[in-house]
Amino acid sequence: MEKVLVSACLMGRRVRYDGRAKTSADARLAAWREEGRLVPHCPEVAGGLPVPRPAAEIEGGASGAAVLAGAARVLASDGSDVTAEFLAGARSALAAARASGVRVAVLKEGSPSCGSLSIYDGTFTGRRAPGQGVTTALLERNGIRVFGEDQIDEAAAYLRTLET
Ligand code: SF4
Repeated sequence: MEKVLVSACLMGRRVRYDGRAKTSADARLAAWREEGRLVPHCPEVAGGLPVPRPAAEIEGGASGAAVLAGAARVLASDGSDVTAEFLAGARSALAAARASGVRVAVLKEGSPSCGSLSIYDGTFTGRRAPGQGVTTALLERNGIRVFGEDQIDEAAAYLRTLET
């Protein structure tokens, strides 16, 4: 059975920067959980950041790939540099995925770690721009397909192709 890496906050864990969860009500995620498919993970907490913590964004509107390449930093809203923690979190997510043979992930859209289609643009003004978070960029680079929580149909279809 194919396992699915999933953002821990989508599964009700209170690991977000504001100390809350972002629990998904999606029936398929619930079914996958019942089947024992899910591997919940929070890269930012795994990377050593506390809960709660200041919001963070990738500087200059850059994407996760630029952070992996050392060309952009991840900065918290208080100005501190949390790049190292984000990189450690991404590596931790990849290790968790590999340990379970994961080839597909459903991660929280918009996050500087977990976003897959869009992330905040680095201005802390609530604006999003197309791009991937740091963890998503590392997972995709290593052959793991990442879908947002609004793309569970696509994730399920991809999962079926892996299991047939
Ligand atoms: Fe959720 Fe990912 Fe942010 Fe952790 S890093 S709180 S799993 S979106």
